Amino acid sequence: MDLKGKTAVVTGSNSGIGLGVATELAKAGANVVLNSFTDRDEDHRLAEDLASRYGVEARYIKADLSKGDEARALIETSGRCDILMNNAGIQHVSAIEEFPVEKWDAIIAIMLSSAFHTAAVAVPMMRANGWGRIINLASAHGLRASPYKSAYVAAKHGVVGLSKVIALETAEDPITCNAICPGYVMTPLVEDQIPDTMKKYDMDRETAIKEVILARQPSKEFATVEQIGGVATFLCSDAAAQITGTTISVDGGWTAR
Ligand code: NAD
Repeated sequence: MDLKGKTAVVTGSNSGIGLGVATELAKAGANVVLNSFTDRDEDHRLAEDLASRYGVEARYIKADLSKGDEARALIETSGRCDILMNNAGIQHVSAIEEFPVEKWDAIIAIMLSSAFHTAAVAVPMMRANGWGRIINLASAHGLRASPYKSAYVAAKHGVVGLSKVIALETAEDPITCNAICPGYVMTPLVEDQIPDTMKKYDMDRETAIKEVILARQPSKEFATVEQIGGVATFLCSDAAAQITGTTISVDGGWTAR
């Protein structure tokens, strides 16, 4: 897979899946733009590290994606965007009658509206350059629901719908748009939940993972950020040129039920 000369903008990529995807795309030769809402030395060092490890151009651009104008400015400042990965996300768990309005607004803004804003700026760039890949990081929760996750499930279902619309609008261009739908992926965020789960259910690590955290994931294994990055890289390949407007589940069988 040779993505040399392509520029990939990955939102929410100073940790977890976003960083994993940016790393796999850099390994395949793409120049990468990392992003989050912070502006710390360590954020910029992540980009320097990718540049020196893989011999690509890499930079970090701060943008708070809860704000539409910053989401648009991220793509404009990147200058070029051949591969757009909308990945930034947050979660809040609460019954609907107690769900804080500001959490609802933030989740919809960061996970759904930002994908609209970035794609709106990126699609004309991709058309002008004659090639483009838009990959939206949705979730098994873009296809199935769980209680107490109203905003997250609504945003992820929205991301799946948005991906289909962008695919239809770009169908006659050399551009594709798809959504990756992971089940549970091992990221620092998930790793942090393991000790609390062990304590709450009085279980050892393996039982807490299999019985509680991965209760809905039939494989009883986490996906890895490298695997999500591998799927994203595949979607950038010529083999995937006719794959558009669809979802690819990486969920150990979750949505087969
Ligand atoms: P993470 O917390 O490591 O990554 C989230 C990223 O989004 C971080 O880089 C964070 O800084 C960024 N972000 C948050 N708010 C932002 C804002 N206002 N502006 C810009 N960036 C912002 O978690 P992750 O698990 O890597 O999640 C990445 C994506 O994958 C999310 O959309 C999440 O919903 C989705 N997802 C994760 C899993 C999983 O099991 N980890 C499963 C399915 C889907």
